Amino acid sequence: MEKRNIYMDHAATTPLDKRVLDKMIPYMTEIYGNANSQHFFGRDAVKGVDEARDTIAKIINAKPNEIYFTSGGTEADNWALRGIAHAYKDSKKHIIISPIEHAAMLSTAKDLAKEGFEIEYMKVDSEGFIDLEHLKTQVRDDTLLVACMLANNEVGTIEPIKEMAEIAHSKKAFAFTDAVQACGVLKTDVKELGVDLMSMSSHKIYGPKGVGALYVRNGIKISNLIFGGHQERTKRGGTTNVAGVIGFAEAFRIAESEREQNYKYVAGLRDRFIEKVEKSVPYIKLNGPRGEKRLPANADFSFEYIEGESILFSLDLAGIAVSSGSACSSGSLEPSHVLLALGLKEELAHGSIRFSFGKHNTIEEIDYAVEVLKNGVERLRAMSPLFKIEGENKYV
Ligand SMILES: *Cc1c(COP(=O)(O)O)cnc(C)c1O
Repeated sequence: MEKRNIYMDHAATTPLDKRVLDKMIPYMTEIYGNANSQHFFGRDAVKGVDEARDTIAKIINAKPNEIYFTSGGTEADNWALRGIAHAYKDSKKHIIISPIEHAAMLSTAKDLAKEGFEIEYMKVDSEGFIDLEHLKTQVRDDTLLVACMLANNEVGTIEPIKEMAEIAHSKKAFAFTDAVQACGVLKTDVKELGVDLMSMSSHKIYGPKGVGALYVRNGIKISNLIFGGHQERTKRGGTTNVAGVIGFAEAFRIAESEREQNYKYVAGLRDRFIEKVEKSVPYIKLNGPRGEKRLPANADFSFEYIEGESILFSLDLAGIAVSSGSACSSGSLEPSHVLLALGLKEELAHGSIRFSFGKHNTIEEIDYAVEVLKNGVERLRAMSPLFKIEGENKYV
């Protein structure tokens, strides 16, 4: 087969939308003022930043002064958790988070535990849904924050955040959600969700890398993560990434205005892919839920008797880009913490691949990927001694 160039790793990052780039360019060339400067160059930059803030606030049903720009989802996650912990440490020190959070959350939580915060993890079921009944028994009068992502980046589970927030509020705890995978794909109305803080990122929605935002409901105290000048109402120092912020808002605006049509299209690709893979490749398991409670772009499979990395390389050779486990933990050979939390055995957690589709993928690419995957898996299994002993006997 001829060498292709097929991108199926949109949960890791997305290409920049050309319309977004067009909107950004003037802010890198003509309107290059520092948004903190008082001359007209600065004022023009501020105007752009203000408009971007208004756009994002409107999409998530917040006020503009509840949006703080950051360097991305990682910083927003770090800031939400640490900023709230430090602001309220004298009154409350109990924090509950899901065990399938992004590394930005889990690492920060671990670090806060060293500072004396009590970190408790939610239970999740085999499809990745948080256990709300159990959460009700976990929240206490000294619970400060309850945190779970709106949609999981690895297995695509869409979490019951509204219900989680209600449970948090029943004990006067704050509710936080990492909406990086959900923005522009699902409705991310902070009032409807009932969350007090929410993180967002630009580059997962066809915007530029290195920019994102944290929503902090008015009235909530949050300590600085980054100290510096008076930017972001003194809460986040650093010269504003003007072009980045403009691009982020434009990407979010486009994603929101095309949300329903893209959802339908991408979910159609996913369903076709899952159906075909399940028909043509034996000894596999789809991780995460099916249907409406799964991100439209996500198909995550575990393959018995082979390593995810080997499958990834065979797809790579055929020109198909995917992820094994989450991009952040690949490179280390640790099995995915998400799949382990879902109860998968270590061998299965090692043998997993995430396909994440985007608006530019085609049906033809889906069918090609199924074909390449089927052949690759067959070839790898033919070389696997374990498959020869167990697999071939198991179902004869
Ligand atoms: C990508 C991602 C992040 C990190 O965002 P960056 O902008 O890349 O720092 C955080 N949380 C989730 C769920 C993600 O998918």
